[in-house]
Amino acid sequence: MKLVLATGNKGKLREFKEMCQDEVVAFSVLLGEMEIVEDGDTFSANALIKARTIYEKLVKEKPSESYIVIADDSGISLPALGGAPGIYSARYAGGKATDKDNLYKLIAALKEKSLKRTSAYYTAAIAIVSNYGDYVVHGWMHGEAIDEARGEKGFGYDPMFIPIGYHLTLGELDEEIKKKISHRAKALELARPIIKMLKQKQGNQK
Ligand code: IMP
Repeated sequence: MKLVLATGNKGKLREFKEMCQDEVVAFSVLLGEMEIVEDGDTFSANALIKARTIYEKLVKEKPSESYIVIADDSGISLPALGGAPGIYSARYAGGKATDKDNLYKLIAALKEKSLKRTSAYYTAAIAIVSNYGDYVVHGWMHGEAIDEARGEKGFGYDPMFIPIGYHLTLGELDEEIKKKISHRAKALELARPIIKMLKQKQGNQK
């Protein structure tokens, strides 16, 4: 049985590998790079699209193994901006935008509204797809977005996000802290027992 991560995002891959005690492999190692069109209108729909696409391709191209594919779709939402960038977080500044382009576009959007800080939250949906069907779990991290980038740690919008109960941004805080409080960590906590149950079922099948 292989536990496969359906993400090409290096930041997310690193966080998943550190948070999962299990041996996880990136889909690209098994299938090479591929584009997945995420055209769902919720985080959970997009996570399921990613996980199902990779699962179906693995079963077709490498049928000798059994697989549990996990995919995450995540982003940051600012109520003051009507929930933007939300599910468009990865392409907020355009289709080929880098994390830095997106970060500075969100900072510019805050400055435009003269918002020095405003409430914000990250959402993570984790989809788990195997021959025992599909599951989706969610996690959230609440805090504030500020109109400047501080610190180099984390990735994406982290340098402008201050989690609730802290004074520093995720760009400045120790990565050990993010690992405990992040939206992905919370979703993964819910995903873990599901993955464990699926592994047992697959084990029993052999
Ligand atoms: P996805 O790969 O479609 O899920 O895109 C998620 C995007 O949301 C990333 O490219 C980041 O811009 C943003 N994002 C999600 N989680 C985080 C996080 O933990 N820190 C910073 N940015 C994040």
